[in-house]
Amino acid sequence: MLRFAPSPTGDLHIGNLRVALINYILAKQRREPFLVRIEDTDTQRNVEGKDREILEILQRFGIEYDQLLYQSQNLHFHQQLAFKLLQEGKAFPCFCTPEELERERQRAKEEGRPYRYSGKCAQRSLAQASRHPGKFSIRIKKPEAPITFQDRIKGFISFDPFDVDSFVILRADGRPTYNFACAIDDMLSDVSLVVRGEDHLSNTPKQIHIRQELGYSKAIEYAHLPMILNQEGKKMSKREQGASVRWLLEEGYLPEAIANYLLLLGNKTPTEIFTLQEAIQWFDLANLSRAPARFDLEKLRFINRAHLRRKGPQELAALLGIEPAQGALAAIYLEEASTLKELRAKIEPIFAKDRDLGEFEREGELLRQAIAGMGELPAEFEVFKGQLMEATGLRGKQFFKPLRILMTGLAHGPELHLLYPHLRDHIQKVVQ
Ligand code: GLU
Repeated sequence: MLRFAPSPTGDLHIGNLRVALINYILAKQRREPFLVRIEDTDTQRNVEGKDREILEILQRFGIEYDQLLYQSQNLHFHQQLAFKLLQEGKAFPCFCTPEELERERQRAKEEGRPYRYSGKCAQRSLAQASRHPGKFSIRIKKPEAPITFQDRIKGFISFDPFDVDSFVILRADGRPTYNFACAIDDMLSDVSLVVRGEDHLSNTPKQIHIRQELGYSKAIEYAHLPMILNQEGKKMSKREQGASVRWLLEEGYLPEAIANYLLLLGNKTPTEIFTLQEAIQWFDLANLSRAPARFDLEKLRFINRAHLRRKGPQELAALLGIEPAQGALAAIYLEEASTLKELRAKIEPIFAKDRDLGEFEREGELLRQAIAGMGELPAEFEVFKGQLMEATGLRGKQFFKPLRILMTGLAHGPELHLLYPHLRDHIQKVVQ
């Protein structure tokens, strides 16, 4: 089983989508089922509706899952297993108050050392816990030996017991911590390989430690993906433009182009432009770079345009929400637009009622009258142009600028002779 485990706490980040794509590809390659687990246990951070939004986005990207699980469904297992560790003396009840712990954290910060639990409650027992139900959290005891594992991307990794620490697995209110819920769920779902962002690297020894203490002997493999950085080389924050998948979709980037771009990042691929289905044929974790990747919107634009060019006219029209017959016209505008939003901005003025002729008001009027008098327009642009020049006496800029504005609604754009065949009928309506 492979899994993607998003938290429904905000917009889906491109880093998470990359994780989802890679897990999906690996599931297909290994012929293992794919699980989507919504990590909703941190109830204070959950944002209403984000789970559904994430699932919709996965669907738009063609990421199909075999199972859907809400982490909260496993709550009774989390609680049961935390008490099992407590009973077996592998965990202890911790009565330290949040204020006390915060003071210790502050002190560590002031002294410039990493915060670790003081160990104050480490000798407390189950008997003491039973006398004060609801008053304690449960901490797992830190391991006695280093926790090591072989990461599929980063190689051999080892964490000292000091760094794993005696950490909380179940809060006083009965809610599991992220590390505990995640470790248990991966075990219960029989996950074989976890691919996730490098920001989780220090969680991995904790999760391995939990399962070892529970006596789970199957080793889960890990691959930690390097982070996606922004142009300044900093971790891409959630609020940054381009970091939110929703934002990219709203801007008119195609799911297939975003997927292509994310799979290209820090990877060696046989071609630059490909589909998700093609990537399933050749994707290999071994080709991923260990160095962080840099997000480059210009590159994404280039890839988006390449995918837009692959669309037939009808498909393009459907994406833009215009008449099927207008798709071929839209395709010409791909010369100068890279997203659906930009394409729309070019196409809409053509079909808008008004024409802003600016300083060419007079010339525009002459052209209007001449065109209106022409009856059916000639098939060739050259012929049309010749007849129109003769009728109006206009030349050069005085001719071409107002003609372009009449035809397209904009002062700039692709060559008029390319547009003309698609606009013949329309021009006559405009001049009425
Ligand atoms: N909910 C975690 C996240 O979104 C999942 C991490 C994991 O894959 O274990 O970062």
